[in-house]
Amino acid sequence: MNYYSTPIATLIDEFTKLPGIGRKTAQRLAFHVISLPEEEAEKLSGAIISAKKNVKHCNVCTNLTDLDTCSICSDQSRDASAICVVEDPRDVVAMEKTKEFRGYYHVLHGAISPLDGIGPQDIKIKELLGRLGDGVVNEIILATNPNIEGEATAMYISRLLKPMGIKVTRIAHGIPVGGDLEYADEVTLTKALEGRREL
Ligand SMILES: [Zn+2]
Repeated sequence: MNYYSTPIATLIDEFTKLPGIGRKTAQRLAFHVISLPEEEAEKLSGAIISAKKNVKHCNVCTNLTDLDTCSICSDQSRDASAICVVEDPRDVVAMEKTKEFRGYYHVLHGAISPLDGIGPQDIKIKELLGRLGDGVVNEIILATNPNIEGEATAMYISRLLKPMGIKVTRIAHGIPVGGDLEYADEVTLTKALEGRREL
């Protein structure tokens, strides 16, 4: 049985399709939108359409941008000898917030996952290789996620790059800050031990 009129039901259905939004939240959002002044609702719909129309992949790093070449790739003051490879545009933001890395990035837009039918050709590995021919880059930092897919992707890329004479490093994983050894799982603890350094 349909409790809502068609436009409301449609709006609720559309919100339900968003990640992390359940039926109840979708209903709350829909009623919020309906209660907005018309110009606010137009701003919201306009922002969705504008983002969808204007955001594309950077022609160098494939990160999301409204420019042909994103602001990071255009920044000549960065260290051209290192590229940090991440799975997702949000990972670039996370890395940038640390202010620790001054090289460039490459966004894969996913990770190799045979179970989900995602192979190396489905993510931006070819584009990464295309950036490495001129000998400027001498280190690739693999910052894919510390899960099965991220590890498989890092291994795959590392095997491709090693014969090219490029140093390939993997970010260290381990016990999160504020974490407790007692509660760490075996993989985390093993990785923490592997990534140990001299003090
Ligand atoms: Zn870029």
